[in-house]
Amino acid sequence: LIFLQALPKAELHAHLNGSIPIKTILELAQQYSPSTAAQTTEVADTLEKLRSGVVFNEIDDFFSLMPAIYALTSTPEAVTTVTRAVLQSFLNPTGDGAESPQCTYLELRTTPRATTHITRERYLTIVLDEIEMYPAIQAALIVSVDRRMSDLDLEECVSLAIKMKNRGRRVVGVDVCGDPRRGDMQSFTRHLSRAKGAGLGLTVHIAECTENTTEDSLALLSCRPDRLGHATFLSDELKAVFFEDISQHYKPCIEICLSSNLLGKTAASLDAHHIHYYLKNDHPIVICTDDTLPFRTSCLGEYSLLLAQPPLGLGLSRGDVARVARMGLDAAFLRPCD
Ligand code: IMP
Repeated sequence: LIFLQALPKAELHAHLNGSIPIKTILELAQQYSPSTAAQTTEVADTLEKLRSGVVFNEIDDFFSLMPAIYALTSTPEAVTTVTRAVLQSFLNPTGDGAESPQCTYLELRTTPRATTHITRERYLTIVLDEIEMYPAIQAALIVSVDRRMSDLDLEECVSLAIKMKNRGRRVVGVDVCGDPRRGDMQSFTRHLSRAKGAGLGLTVHIAECTENTTEDSLALLSCRPDRLGHATFLSDELKAVFFEDISQHYKPCIEICLSSNLLGKTAASLDAHHIHYYLKNDHPIVICTDDTLPFRTSCLGEYSLLLAQPPLGLGLSRGDVARVARMGLDAAFLRPCD
């Protein structure tokens, strides 16, 4: 544990509303005044699941948690509270600096959400205000767009990300996330290219579930993302065309979320996990948590899986774990050493 704690690590794939500490979400629930009986039930059911451990049998077991979490985080005050708590949980666990942080550098991502209480711009401003309390070498923001978004919403979110970056706010990239079974990625490409053209890093959730088609992956790859989230079901053919053909000069870092994939059942076991392909091919990867709240994990937990002996872990040597951690730092949109 001391070795892993001391190792400089980058967390590059963490969703804000999926990473709220359980203590914080329970506190928000106490202040929550639902407007309908259905909302009361939904929040109570979700909190019970989060408290006792969510059982994931299908993809909806994850996405169905979000409405209740969003109901609890819809005011400006709640967005401040959760952002502060999430940053603290990654960067300063006890709040007094006595315990070492989970990671050295955090690229937190979130989808700008307009509610009855806030606009998308205000939402992002609140999140950035909290992120910028930390030095640039520690924390930055990736603006997520959801696969279900309309063209107009996409336009707005990408424009906001660019505007904020140009104003000197710490927005470093754009991400595509959300229910992988939804959306036409072909219609996303012009927005993603615009973000890239404006100097933002680009990361996309890709081939996350078996329903994702080759066309879906090809549309996303056509924008040459700098990093790829999950890439669990990226076909051997696409990997051969894009990653193994050296004339492509294309080595996007793969954001690996072991616990998320195992619990979400997109990977049958650690042994069957796609991380092995990337390790074998010396392809850049970064070890990430995805959503610490439902998946009950942490950066140290994910790195422990690398070090532990099979079948509990991958049994990598300390040298190899240090090399993986270095690859993660190198894949940051805002280089900690810049
Ligand atoms: P937010 O963007 O801060 O609101 O974080 C929660 C959102 O992240 C969810 O509503 C999803 O859209 C997205 N998300 C979290 N985990 C995943 C994942 O594994 N795949 C795709 N989208 C995800």
